[in-house]
Amino acid sequence: MELKQLGERTWYVPGRVNLGYYEEDGRGYLIDTGLDDEYGRKILKLLNEERKGVPLRAVVNTHSNADHIGGNAFIQKRTGCEIWGTRLEGVLTERTSLEPFLLWSAWPFREIRGKFIEAKPSKVTFFGTTPLTEGPIMDTALTAVPLPGHYLEMFGVKTPDGVFFLADALFDPAILAKYRFCVMVDIAGAYRTLTMIEGTEAAWFVPCHAPVTRDIRELVRQNREGLAWVSEAVYDALSEGPLSREDILSRVGMANALEMDAAHLLLNLTSVSSHLTWLSNGEKVEPFVKDCRLLWRHKEKEEKEGPPDGFSGACP
Ligand SMILES: [Zn+2]
Repeated sequence: MELKQLGERTWYVPGRVNLGYYEEDGRGYLIDTGLDDEYGRKILKLLNEERKGVPLRAVVNTHSNADHIGGNAFIQKRTGCEIWGTRLEGVLTERTSLEPFLLWSAWPFREIRGKFIEAKPSKVTFFGTTPLTEGPIMDTALTAVPLPGHYLEMFGVKTPDGVFFLADALFDPAILAKYRFCVMVDIAGAYRTLTMIEGTEAAWFVPCHAPVTRDIRELVRQNREGLAWVSEAVYDALSEGPLSREDILSRVGMANALEMDAAHLLLNLTSVSSHLTWLSNGEKVEPFVKDCRLLWRHKEKEEKEGPPDGFSGACP
C-alpha cells in the first residue's frame, strides 16, 4: 500500500478501490475507506508512517457501497474522526443492512449479507441537500460534485489543487468487459454524469475502479459504450417475445458466460431494472402482468428495423 502525491495537498492510495487523501489547515481527510477493518487498519498505518502527526479530521464517503465504507468503523473507532456523507447515502452507511435490503426488497437472507454487500455501520454527519447540488463539503475547500447514475446520491470530490475524485462514475474497460452489468440505478443520470466529467478540467482524474489519468475522455467513451451495450442487450433479449427481468438477465448472462452468486445476481438485476426504466421512459419497452409475472415487451409503435434511437448516449 502506497500514498502517491497528485497535488500540493492531495494524495491517493491505489488499490482495488482507489482512495483519496487531502490535507487542509494541518488536518487530514480520507476519501472513502476500502472494504473492511483490515483495510482500515492498513490505511491508518500508512498515514501514520507517511503523514505523521497530522490528525485525521474526517472521512468523506462518496457513496455507501461496502467497498467504499467498509473501513469506516475501524478508522472511526481508532481515531474518533467524523464520517461525512450525503443524507441518503449516509443513512445507508449508518444502517448498512439496508444495502442488502434494497437488493432483496425485504429483510435479506444470509447469503447476501457478506462484507462485499453489508459493511460494519458507522456514525455519519450529514452534509448537503437532497438531491445534492454542487457545493462545498462542510467548512473545507473541498467541493462535492453530484454524480448520478451508479447509486442513490453519489458525489465526486474536487480539491483546490485540481484533483477530481470520481467515485464509481466510471469503470476500467477490463471490469466492463468482465462483468458487463456494472451497478447502475439511473441510466439517464449516468449519461449526464459522463458528459459532465468529459467537459470538466482537472489536473488529475481519480476513478475508484480505474487507473488515475490526466485525460479522462477515452475512459468516458468506453463507459458510454458499456452503458449502450447493456441497453441494447436488454432490448434485444425481448426480440422473440416478452420476458421477466430475471429472464432477461438469464438470457444476457448465459450468452456472455457471466458468472454470479446470489448477491452478484441481485446487483445485476438492479442494472437490468434501471435499463428497463430508461427504455420504458424512452417509449421503447413496456411492462405488463401476465400469469402473476411482471413481463416486459417491445412497445408496438417502436417495432421497426434495427435498435431504437437513443443508444448512442442521448437521454430519452
Ligand atoms: Zn465501488
